[in-house]
Amino acid sequence: MSAEFSGIGVVPGRVVAPARVMPPPVTAPVEQPAPQDPEAEATRIREASAAVHAELLERAETVTGDAHDVLKATALMAKDPTLIKTAIKRLTDTDAETAVWTVAEDTAAQLEALGGYMAERAADVLDVRARLVARLRGAPAPGIPHSEEPFVLIADDLAPADTATLDPESVVALVCAAGGPQSHTAILARSLGIPAIVAAAGVLDVADHTPVFVDGGTGVLRTEPGTDEADLVAVWQDAAARLHTYSGPCLLGDGTRIPLRANVGDGDQARAAAEAGAEGVGLLRTEFCFLDRDTEPSVDEQTDAYAQVFAAFDDHKVVVRTLDAGADKPLPFLTDTQEPNPALGVRGFRTSRRAVGVLERQLEAIARAAEQTSIDVHVMAPMISTAEEAEQFAGLASAAGLPVSGVMVEVPSAALRAESILSEVEFASIGTNDLTQYVMASDRMLGGLAELSDPWQPAVLELIGMAAAQGQALKKSVGVCGEAAADPALAVVLVGLGVTSLSMAARALPAVAEVLRTVTLDQAQQTAKLTLGARTAQEAKTTVRGRLPVLDELGL
Ligand code: PEP
Ligand code: MG
Repeated sequence: MSAEFSGIGVVPGRVVAPARVMPPPVTAPVEQPAPQDPEAEATRIREASAAVHAELLERAETVTGDAHDVLKATALMAKDPTLIKTAIKRLTDTDAETAVWTVAEDTAAQLEALGGYMAERAADVLDVRARLVARLRGAPAPGIPHSEEPFVLIADDLAPADTATLDPESVVALVCAAGGPQSHTAILARSLGIPAIVAAAGVLDVADHTPVFVDGGTGVLRTEPGTDEADLVAVWQDAAARLHTYSGPCLLGDGTRIPLRANVGDGDQARAAAEAGAEGVGLLRTEFCFLDRDTEPSVDEQTDAYAQVFAAFDDHKVVVRTLDAGADKPLPFLTDTQEPNPALGVRGFRTSRRAVGVLERQLEAIARAAEQTSIDVHVMAPMISTAEEAEQFAGLASAAGLPVSGVMVEVPSAALRAESILSEVEFASIGTNDLTQYVMASDRMLGGLAELSDPWQPAVLELIGMAAAQGQALKKSVGVCGEAAADPALAVVLVGLGVTSLSMAARALPAVAEVLRTVTLDQAQQTAKLTLGARTAQEAKTTVRGRLPVLDELGL
């Protein structure tokens, strides 16, 4: 019997493949008394160590480059003699799971205390610990399942670091029970081009290895797919092939040029974006270069990471956003994980109040990398709320030798007061993900609030229109670099509201350009006006779709 699960489609694409369900995280053991037969328990620990070592080595052989080296190093940790011997010694006081758990905890704490490179290995020790304890429990290994054949990954939600390691060759679709459409899981899935659904309630009930059909456009997962689903996949593949050839520039039907740029997180993504026809980078999420770091990267490391992004382009510009740490993207050297309400806390530009010098050193690194290229490098601050903050940022950027600075409009106050903020800087870029979360007071990570966390909400569109109009009055550009720009129908509305450029995951460029081509600026403006008159997000969406027949033709 086929079962259907609905969620929010966040990356279009259709596939049929077996499901692999991500196991829940391994929890701390409940301590038991010391075993009657310590030798038998010691044998179980040695066997678990050998099995995890072998499993990780086997996985290392299936990948190349950094992933291969990391897996090999982690495999070695699994049979680290000190770790295993110390755990076995503890069997005089406690059970095997607790012994392994606590010894690894101590080791991780010692590595943390050493700082720098060693501190970063602490996470690897904790990963090995989870694998050893899962083995001892007879539970599946934690983390993204490994499989020789392509599969649909089903999970509750993924940490950004897990999503970043997804291999689109093996994970052909991602379906999460939790998560919101603006969550970083969705953003990273889009940048990897993996069809994805979030907020699919109940989907964790799908049994491992069940064949499933996934439609990332409509947000549906169906088990036991048949010929109907195979036909839908074929239609999608035809449309995808048709959209394969975008090389820019993007012109509306009347010849109006709308620069389409890319959102990237590192040099690899920047090169892919250049190949996909992006007119530069509208958002370099610098925190994505350092998500796995416990300590501040050095100026040299940062310079190198940014230079790799700049080198991907011969012309065009790259907008570097300074570190946007906090809330769902914590960076231990910048953010306080104890904050009761991190989305409203010291995040984004605000971290410069507390972590003195980090922003200055980052700007220095950007300026150094900019000296190595002839392209235009612009800098942009996240989470700006006031004109004073914009002024401060512009001052720091210019002191670092970076004359063109801008700000993100993500906080409602910045949209309302865009004119005074734009008087301090050269440009603004609207971050619709956060702007939506703050306008609607709806956590972007919560699947249960997805209908509120929707940039189609007329209140959000109205604020975007206000910010764009204030930019036009000052003749300063106001772009959009939130996920809204990657939605081809919404892109038409944004342009109609006066937004001057769009930045998105490179894979969204062809579809957005293809749809924008079918409207004139005047038609886009009329369409945008209709959305402002809509009562609900759904009404706005339906009205716009009705005016854009190209969406159905392309299966979008
Ligand atoms: C946004 O908020 O829209 C944005 C682009 O920034 P991020 O998604 O990285 O918070
Ligand atoms: Mg943001």
